[in-house]
Amino acid sequence: MDFELTEDQVTIRRAVAELAGKFDDQYWMEKDAAHEFPAEFYQAFADGGWLGITTPEEYGGHGFGISEAALLLEEVSASGAGMNGASSMHLSIFGMHPVIVHGSEELKRDNLPRIVTGDLHVCFGVTEPGAGQDTTRITTFAKRDGSDYVVNGRKVWISKAMESEKILLLTRTTRFEDVTKKTDGLTLFLTDLDRDHIDIRPIAKMGRNAVTSNELFIDDLRIPAEHRVGEEGQGFKYILDGLNPERMLVAAEALGLGRAALRRAVRYGNERVVFGRPIGMNQGLQFPLADSLARLDAAELALRKATWLYDNGRPCGREANTAKYLCADAGFEAADRALQTHGGMGYAEEYHVARYFREARLLKIAPLSQEMVLNYLGSHVLGLPRSY
Ligand SMILES: Cc1cc2nc3c(=O)[nH]c(=O)nc-3n(C[C@H](O)[C@H](O)[C@H](O)COP(=O)(O)OP(=O)(O)OC[C@H]3O[C@@H](n4cnc5c(N)ncnc54)[C@H](O)[C@@H]3O)c2cc1C
Repeated sequence: MDFELTEDQVTIRRAVAELAGKFDDQYWMEKDAAHEFPAEFYQAFADGGWLGITTPEEYGGHGFGISEAALLLEEVSASGAGMNGASSMHLSIFGMHPVIVHGSEELKRDNLPRIVTGDLHVCFGVTEPGAGQDTTRITTFAKRDGSDYVVNGRKVWISKAMESEKILLLTRTTRFEDVTKKTDGLTLFLTDLDRDHIDIRPIAKMGRNAVTSNELFIDDLRIPAEHRVGEEGQGFKYILDGLNPERMLVAAEALGLGRAALRRAVRYGNERVVFGRPIGMNQGLQFPLADSLARLDAAELALRKATWLYDNGRPCGREANTAKYLCADAGFEAADRALQTHGGMGYAEEYHVARYFREARLLKIAPLSQEMVLNYLGSHVLGLPRSY
């Protein structure tokens, strides 16, 4: 058993922490309050070549694995950038996986290098109001019309749509009622987010407000067939390929946020004096923080194992789901305890833990809820009957 990070991994970790550290909590507080995309931060990471960490070298990237991408996003989140920082770049880093594996050479050449340089923002359009996490129930429909498809439908929660030029869009090309297997008949496109045919409306939400999430109303959007990713009807399988890595990256973001919260809680616990002693001396506060440290460390081990398995071509569904579950829980718990440690000041924006708390809460819901993780472990791993 080897728990050492490689030399590259140590270097990545250090360099990312240094770059992310240039954008302090004040920056993130202001971006969040103004609902403003962190363009300077994003460009700094693009200029440093970080957006291409997993992109193959022939398309301008570095070709590293998920282990390195997870370290990157963990450090971004842990810097205090949290989900505002991580979500600004999450899709650029791994969202194009279905295109890299299944897309045409033209689609890759046209898009991947521009994503790496930060020039092209892409959002990911899967969720629909009527389908929820039952993705096979989406109804946004792409109807073939000569050399094009014509798309109509509605998406919800699409992050970064306001800032994006393109969308990785999941549609149905055969209706649910007409397929024998419910995962068939879904088709994926990487295409222009044409504002003449897509009405984009931001959703007012609880946190992570520097990155928008949006409703999309798609009305007769024409998509050339060359924008299709892989084969018609196989889109669901292409998305599935990327699910485990996505769970690991989200786990890394939750872990980083938990670390940021714990760091602030410890600082305040040492500084704030009430009843003539630092509040961190009271075991009612100290033990929950020590407990969070233990939980974050344990969750980190689960994550490192999952990313190692994936990068070594081994099955990792159990470990990826476990890592997402444990990191999301430990991250949120740490944020909650950091808020409690700050007392009334925890509720003030000035101390930043309120922002961490709102952002950490998201990771128990999206991109996959804790319940769906347990559904996976219960049915796929333990062999209990499926509820979904
Ligand atoms: C801030 C934010 C950003 C997002 N960004 C994107 C994005 O960029 N692109 C995108 O496509 N989507 C995005 N999403 C959507 C996100 O992936 C979904 O919200 C998430 O998957 C949960 O789906 P849902 O909201 O439809 O919940 P539902 O499917 O409606 O579920 C509601 C609740 O019921 C529970 N539940 C349902 N069925 C079962 C069952 N069988 N057993 C146990 N529990 C069950 C769920 O766990 C959940 O708690 C985003 C969401 C948010 C909040």
